[in-house]
Amino acid sequence: MSGGESLVSPPHSTAALRFTARGVVAAPETLQIRVGAQFEGRVAFGAPSPSRDMTPAEVVHNVRAFRAPGPRMRAVRGLALSAIPVSWSAATLHDTTEACRAAGIERVVLHRPVSACHDAVPEGVAVATAVRVPDEAEQVAAKRPSHSLSVTIPLEARVLPLLGEVAARLAPTTRLTLLWPLPGGSEAAPPADAVVEAMERALPQLASRDWGVKGLPLCALQSLLPQVPDLPRRVWKSANRHYVDADHQGPGALLLQPDLQRLEKRDGCRFCAFDSRCEGVASPWLAAGLAGAVTPISSSPTLLASGVHFRGDGTAG
Ligand code: SF4
Repeated sequence: MSGGESLVSPPHSTAALRFTARGVVAAPETLQIRVGAQFEGRVAFGAPSPSRDMTPAEVVHNVRAFRAPGPRMRAVRGLALSAIPVSWSAATLHDTTEACRAAGIERVVLHRPVSACHDAVPEGVAVATAVRVPDEAEQVAAKRPSHSLSVTIPLEARVLPLLGEVAARLAPTTRLTLLWPLPGGSEAAPPADAVVEAMERALPQLASRDWGVKGLPLCALQSLLPQVPDLPRRVWKSANRHYVDADHQGPGALLLQPDLQRLEKRDGCRFCAFDSRCEGVASPWLAAGLAGAVTPISSSPTLLASGVHFRGDGTAG
């Protein structure tokens, strides 16, 4: 942080929950700003297409607004900038991220297409990109990045047969998120069974890597437990976030949950040993049966036999 503003929010602004007209959701501590109208290789999650690019001044103005959001909201600490316009120079990007840090932002990550993942970034800024085919993985692995670089592999139907090869071409140290597609793209997510089969085939290439799954609950993946005993630690949550673009700024910003995504559980989930760690399943996928049976884990002999222990709060120990 280059500014002098305290990162400690007043106690009344740190409520972990946010009450909305569509239900209670986790209060975001992250702000995502889609800066540009064009976004090559984006991972769809139901966000609208903005009508224009945002200016650097608009980006900084929104960051300042969400750093001091009033007594009923958490001040954001993390910032994701996606779709940086090609018209932005390195100096513009540097000055903008510095202004955001001066406003109190602790972490900045740029969501970039593979073609730009090795472009220069300001010091301390991380990059995230999405990779779907082996050629893209090779492009990512072609250079040792000077910045922190994480990779998402969307578990789309066309990607599943390539999963092992894609993972094999990436540098062993690359952090991998295997993302079950979210509603909002042009296709439905492949069924959980197909994802599990693809992951099973790719386990040799995933072994010894830092990888995790988002979007699919542990109950849908539990047949992998004999081969991946630490699977509960590899099921990651997607943090809720404010979402800003040129057409949704300040008070008009959207929330990832519930404006763009709605997650649901079944009634029986309250009996699941993983309930407190599980964010549920995207509502349309749950309704379509794509996540499978959604069987509470407390009744799963496979998991119980795996040696995984749950603490009282439901987290894996
Ligand atoms: S809480 Fe529900 S959706 Fe989550 S792992 Fe358990 S049974 Fe599956």
